[in-house]
Amino acid sequence: MTLLYPLDAELDPEVRLRLLGTKASGLHEITALGLPVPPGFTITTEVGAELRESGKWPEGLADAVRGALEQIERRVDRRFGDPENPLLIAVRSGAPVSMPGMMDTLLNVGLNEQTLAGLASKHANEWFALDAYRRLLQMYGTVVRDIDIDRFQFRLVDLKTKLGRPRMTDSELGIESMQELVASYLSLIEEASGSPFPQDVETQLWDAVRAVFASWDNTRAVRYRRMQNIHGATGTACTIQAMVFGNTGAQSGSGVAFTRNPSNGDKQLYGEYLPKAQGEDLVAGLQTPVPLTARTAAPGKEATSLEEASPGAFKAVSTYCATLERHFGDMQDIEFTIEDGTPYILQTRAANRTAPAAVRVAVDMVREGVLSKEQALMRVDAGSLEQLLQARLPSVGDLAARGVHAAATGLPASPGAASGRIVFDADHAVRSAAEGQDVILVRQETSAEDIHGMKVAKGVVTAAGGMTSHAAVVARGLGKCCVVGCGNIRIDFGERTVRLSEHADPLREGDLLTLDGSTGNIYAGALDLVASATVDELAELMTWADDARRMRVYAEADTPQAARAALSYGAEGVGLCRTERMFFAPDRVFAMQCALLAVEDEQRSHWLGELERAQCDDFVEIFEAMNGRPVTIRLLDRALQELMPEDEPALRALADALDLELDEVTQAAARHRESNPAFGHRGVRAGLTIPGLYDMQLRAMLSAAHKCTERNTAVDLEVLIPMIAFTSEVVALRVVLDRVLARVFTSPTALFRCRVGAMVELPRACLIADELARHTDFFSFGGNDLTQTVLGVSRDDANRFLPCYHNELGLIAADPFTALDARVAEMIGIALRRGKGARADLIAGLCGDQGGSPDSIAVCEKLGLDFVCAPLSQLPGARLAAAQARIR
Ligand code: PEP
Ligand code: MG
Repeated sequence: MTLLYPLDAELDPEVRLRLLGTKASGLHEITALGLPVPPGFTITTEVGAELRESGKWPEGLADAVRGALEQIERRVDRRFGDPENPLLIAVRSGAPVSMPGMMDTLLNVGLNEQTLAGLASKHANEWFALDAYRRLLQMYGTVVRDIDIDRFQFRLVDLKTKLGRPRMTDSELGIESMQELVASYLSLIEEASGSPFPQDVETQLWDAVRAVFASWDNTRAVRYRRMQNIHGATGTACTIQAMVFGNTGAQSGSGVAFTRNPSNGDKQLYGEYLPKAQGEDLVAGLQTPVPLTARTAAPGKEATSLEEASPGAFKAVSTYCATLERHFGDMQDIEFTIEDGTPYILQTRAANRTAPAAVRVAVDMVREGVLSKEQALMRVDAGSLEQLLQARLPSVGDLAARGVHAAATGLPASPGAASGRIVFDADHAVRSAAEGQDVILVRQETSAEDIHGMKVAKGVVTAAGGMTSHAAVVARGLGKCCVVGCGNIRIDFGERTVRLSEHADPLREGDLLTLDGSTGNIYAGALDLVASATVDELAELMTWADDARRMRVYAEADTPQAARAALSYGAEGVGLCRTERMFFAPDRVFAMQCALLAVEDEQRSHWLGELERAQCDDFVEIFEAMNGRPVTIRLLDRALQELMPEDEPALRALADALDLELDEVTQAAARHRESNPAFGHRGVRAGLTIPGLYDMQLRAMLSAAHKCTERNTAVDLEVLIPMIAFTSEVVALRVVLDRVLARVFTSPTALFRCRVGAMVELPRACLIADELARHTDFFSFGGNDLTQTVLGVSRDDANRFLPCYHNELGLIAADPFTALDARVAEMIGIALRRGKGARADLIAGLCGDQGGSPDSIAVCEKLGLDFVCAPLSQLPGARLAAAQARIR
């Protein structure tokens, strides 16, 4: 076992990271670059692991530490525990995974009653020595003796209150007060922990090292690792370094510098500096720092900036920052301390940044020649791209040129655009959104009771209220598009209608509405939205991602409008059109209900005919939008009971339409009730047993394709069969398809291609994948259903316990409905091997809610899938994630 390494030891980077952690690895690199780093050494993670296991220090450690400490003593010409010329040390944590602020650190170790005087006279500054001592006492008390930090803070506040100035800053405390504070802290430690603060510096050192190693297992750190899905990491290392002091006087201080602006990515040094302070003061935020540069100072305050107050030190810090960014090839977040005019670098790490900054910095660094395109792609969090896109409408002028005019106008409370179906209350919004509908919440005004509805809605409209109304404020907070104060609209909650102007026809719940939160305009119906990037550099990054990825990226889209929007998000085709979602409009639901409840064949055919016409029109538009790109249309897959009417007026309307008694319709509807609809009469099972249902859908899509080819538009149709459990289901359905195909396309055309795919979403389907492959052209793995059937967890009820498993009990690392579970992935792997074994040219990909998750996309790349299919807003992230997975 290696016990420790000095900061200037040369080490293989991988070994270094594993044994010394990220922080110490960074310090090694800074030291090697020749930048000023206080000398020190790192006790390895192996020592920490041994201590955790056996509770004992490994043999030889004490001697090794003594030897390394002597090296530091020689370098800085001070001695640990020497009353005249004392060396003080920092004892820091740092693991191979970054866990900022989660573990413990002790500063100023080595101070006691004797060395205190030595430190004061060495710096000719008694106040500073007392300040260092009280900081050590507080850190020792909280970290080693586990005393609540508030007890130290209370004593400090008490002292200030006694002086009559409870709001004075720490640096305004006089020498006597500092002495009193030190005495008070010494007694607190003894009272609270039962033994005094150790005056022996060796005891301090080993207590500190032990506490730092133990801090890997403190509650904060454990919770953080759970939250960040960090597993199997080996524990922390412990770095011991000579102290440098930012609190010795006016020419000293501590600062944090970002090499670029972390909020927008501007290439300008950015940061804060606190004169006469140690680093943790800046983090604690108890005192107000000054800016690093004059440019970022408030007007008139330029002289307070480090740049103007200490130009020499500032220049050195800027040079070090530039060197570090160049060396690491990434924007850095650097901690430094200036001691009597001389800067030291204490830490550097890749800077946290907002999503826009991440994209700009990555693209800028390629332009500057610092990064390759591949490296730049790896620098951006794919999951964050969603934040950078905003849906928008064409300009008012462009719309007017197409004859589209606003039906009402309100105040533009929150930007972006949205279209969806009207709902009048929050509960309804939640129910409809859960079914996959885009909804617009329309209210007189909103209150706290509406928040759950606002969260799931695509947009919010209110008749009353101004730019600071509840709706406006909450919508902006949620990033939802919102129009408020539409004084001319009239909502009738009893009738559940809204009139957009005095003479307009009322719109009903379920009708389509489009909002423009940037202009305040409201339009009846659904208008095409396009994705627009809020950062100019995104488009360039996306072209690099498209060049780098192997997997194709398709979109989920159920409407012509969504299909057109998908193109602006960079989709290569429609990977999943859920046809059941095409029945959301009130008239279509009604037609579907009639078709399902009809007793007479003739009536059923009539209503199916209505549906066929509506679907065919939509398919034509979708094919036209995709213009020859693949369009995967899934046959109806919905628990039929969800389509059934809920209340008596609805049943009565059906009875009238079907010429039946109310009783008969009620009983017919009841026959569709199921105990477990998720595993019931849905998908291909309904398609094969309800006469005419799938025939109707196949006719709709094939005649739509035929119409398009007649107009010279190429169609690449993929028909997807949901919920397959038996090969015979596919065989039976192909007979239907071939029959309809032969009727619609009487002569072949090069403009039309049609393939049949199996939705592989049940374990049995995975196991018969070889058979399925012989009867289909492609597989689409349905991650949602496969997850619920492999895990035996109903996706509709999973929220009762999965969040607790994940967040509280730590039993699972991630929500399997968001990130593909390893065993579900294994199931896909089995199916893929069997499928490709039977048919080498089989195409296969993932759809469902995991299809846009970067982690799941990485798994898909490893499995060797050909495509992923993602929801619209996650498409750019999916394109990037596919590129990253390929590069990795
Ligand atoms: C799936 O199961 O993953 C899927 C895409 O189908 P749905 O979510 O519509 O059941
Ligand atoms: Mg499914």
